[in-house]
Amino acid sequence: MNNKLYGNLIFELSHPGRKGYSLPDNKFGDYEVPAEMRRENDAQLPECDEMTVVRHYTNHSGNNFGVDNGFYPLGSCTMKYNPAINEEIPGMADFRDIHPLQPVDTVKGCLDVCAGLRKALSEIAGLADFTLNPFAGAHGELTGLMVIRRYHESRGDEKRTKVIVPNSAHGTNPASAAVCGLEIVEVKSTADGVVDVDDLRGLLDDTIAAVMMTNPNTLGLFERNIPEIAKLVHECGALMYYDGANLNPMLGACRPGDMGFDVMHINLHKTFSTPHGGGGPGSGPVGVRKGLEQFLPDNEHDSTLSVSPYHGNFGVILKAYTYILSLGKEYIKYVGPLATLNANYIKESLKDVYELPIAGLCKHEFVFNGLADKSTGITTMDVAKRLLDYGYHAPTIYFPLLFHEAMMIEPTESESKVTIDGFIEVMRKIAEEAKNEPELLRSAPHNTPIGRVDDVLAAKHPVVTYKSMLND
Ligand SMILES: *Cc1c(COP(=O)(O)O)cnc(C)c1O
Repeated sequence: MNNKLYGNLIFELSHPGRKGYSLPDNKFGDYEVPAEMRRENDAQLPECDEMTVVRHYTNHSGNNFGVDNGFYPLGSCTMKYNPAINEEIPGMADFRDIHPLQPVDTVKGCLDVCAGLRKALSEIAGLADFTLNPFAGAHGELTGLMVIRRYHESRGDEKRTKVIVPNSAHGTNPASAAVCGLEIVEVKSTADGVVDVDDLRGLLDDTIAAVMMTNPNTLGLFERNIPEIAKLVHECGALMYYDGANLNPMLGACRPGDMGFDVMHINLHKTFSTPHGGGGPGSGPVGVRKGLEQFLPDNEHDSTLSVSPYHGNFGVILKAYTYILSLGKEYIKYVGPLATLNANYIKESLKDVYELPIAGLCKHEFVFNGLADKSTGITTMDVAKRLLDYGYHAPTIYFPLLFHEAMMIEPTESESKVTIDGFIEVMRKIAEEAKNEPELLRSAPHNTPIGRVDDVLAAKHPVVTYKSMLND
């Protein structure tokens, strides 16, 4: 893109008097805006012709990177292929042009979609029922914890005000517990990266409302002690909460309900394929085992718990249902095994040049702790920036917090062996560069519209407004 021609900001392209729009004839008559509601000066809006506006935004959109542009191995975020049919179906007028307040008998098909998805998720998760109301994973966590509180309260068990969360958990887990008014108790991980059962045993008592777990956990490891953990937790009267944000590895392999979990959420926008970069849109349905259904929020039926207006994020619900139906029972069972195979293939192909702190089989993702050769001084940040030069999105970096140079890689089941081999080749090349041309990495990226930014400066002195050049 030629920045001189098209400009970084639409304001820089403004010329007084130009315009690129025409308004339809006014059919409603004139209306005088009351003086006290009018602005004193005209709004400083850019004045541009239509072609300039089109080129400006089209060229900027080309700077975006998404799964449709290239490989996007962002651990714990599940950036997978989003089939075009997922956009076509919600684009159908019968789905697109509805309103949440229109009479129920005119949207029966849409309600069928919701009922169908609830049934499919229940079957996939091995649980009794789901609510589709929450708008995100974190919102699902909060809803699930509210369900758990309601369960304890219904039994007059009021002193259960604490939630146990592993130190490897996604940050939203303790945050949701805090928002729900619960106290967080951290359980340690063992040296091989799973929940320390002995530490957990010592924490369980009659003040514990729930244990929140992610399985496979944030290191991509299968928590092999779940049956024992579930037994201990249930014996103490608490419930098992499952963070199913990234359910990929489980599809076709096993079900949280069968493992002893009572309440869970799923991120439809991750596991069931909705583009969600940049913070949305999302949907975090919450499922429960038999006997807890009455504690779910449900705006369709009578419920004293309401977490959202109407039925939830219908567009995402529809995409997830489309995705599930287009794979069908026959193919959905390949998702888990393929996501696991792809992750293990990358891990095994790179573990001689990147430090693998926890060896062994992973599930859908795994964590490296920077380069194996620490003598070069090259950091995970340098590697991540250099990947951009080669046209790859960087993995999740500096998370989880268990390792200083964490680099969390999740290829998903969608990628072909050729794509994955290309990524492996580039990662190996970067490891070579770290030895031979370290400056190249320290100053990367070189091929992107914006080079290396000063993270500290950006955090301490963020420039978040633009002073129009026209006013200078
Ligand atoms: C993404 C994620 C969440 C939070 O989901 P949001 O939709 O971003 O709120 C929670 N837990 C895990 C493990 C996640 O990966």
